Amino acid sequence: MTAITRNAVIDRLRTVQDPELHQDLVTLNMIKEVAIDGGRVKVHVELTTPACPLKDQIRADVEKAVRAIPGVTTVELEWSAKVRGAPQPRPQLAGVKNIVSVGAGKGGVGKSTVATMLAVGLRRAGASVGLLDADVYGPSIPTMLGIEGVQPKVRDKMLLPIEAHGIGIMSVGVLVEPDRPMVLRGPMLHGILRQFLDQVEWGELDYLIVDLPPGTGDVPLTLAQSIPQTGAVIVCTPQDVALADARRAIMMFRQLNVDVLGIVENMSYYLCPHCGNRDELFDHGGAANAAEEMQVPFLGDIPLNASLRVFGDAGRPDKMFTESPDYVRQAVDRMVQRTAGRVSVRNLLQPAGPTLSIE
Ligand code: ADP
Repeated sequence: MTAITRNAVIDRLRTVQDPELHQDLVTLNMIKEVAIDGGRVKVHVELTTPACPLKDQIRADVEKAVRAIPGVTTVELEWSAKVRGAPQPRPQLAGVKNIVSVGAGKGGVGKSTVATMLAVGLRRAGASVGLLDADVYGPSIPTMLGIEGVQPKVRDKMLLPIEAHGIGIMSVGVLVEPDRPMVLRGPMLHGILRQFLDQVEWGELDYLIVDLPPGTGDVPLTLAQSIPQTGAVIVCTPQDVALADARRAIMMFRQLNVDVLGIVENMSYYLCPHCGNRDELFDHGGAANAAEEMQVPFLGDIPLNASLRVFGDAGRPDKMFTESPDYVRQAVDRMVQRTAGRVSVRNLLQPAGPTLSIE
């Protein structure tokens, strides 16, 4: 019997498409190594995110494709992940591959909760992650990440992100007195954000998640003018009013030239922990419809569940992933993975993010 060749394996791998990126694994430069030992073939696949939503499907497709070569007895897969991203023009952000902002048309829909889930979820998957709380009107990230009252260290006039849950965090909340409402006008906001962007030593990050203030005000504008973002995630509840606001937020990001990565429907439904009855308190599914209508991806629905509020209030977002009911954890994981997938797609389609203008 003729020996299996590396070229034969590579040719077969050319028939395997990444289900989300819609190109084959060889073209996408995702095959790092092929090792052949008799009938055993080992393939090393490098994913574009450790939070890949389609790993199982890629595994099945690779196995099937390689097994079709005569003489192959076993196919082994080895995985690694390398997040891709666009270079950042600002030197302080040069090591940051992707900036993903999380916005909402109105307050209280769970934007900070979703930003926290994204940061913690991506970190849990193995990515290096930063979280910038730019919600100047109600910074809640310090509470949710359990760093209330902690001051950032300063090194060579640069602020060092506060470390918690494996994430580097910076928040306007650490710079102002607690319980003091921030009354800021546009130019002051602009200054604070600029300070964040210029004076924080973020280091090397796969993803920097930015929790924006709700609405369509100065902060998203300043951000869009200052840094190229991979895209924005919009959070809404299924209520009509929240959806109308979400539509406005999508329009704003489009005007600012920021890609909308997709919509998350939060507080999507409620499952009674006693009787299992499902209640759609704020209606359900509106965001998926709005996503279709506005031609943006739907990133998933997160149920209303006390565990998410309790762990958020307690500064233990890790427990959202480990101690919430199964269906809640699954919904959160799915949302994180879909978002990571959309970031990969965006990077493939359009490697360099545009900025409106850099002053
Ligand atoms: P926003 O950033 O949009 O103002 P937050 O993320 O601060 O909203 O959420 C508002 C409140 O709702 C918080 O107390 C949070 O813990 C809670 N919350 C958010 N999403 C959920 C959810 N899916 N289930 C239960 N409570 C939630």
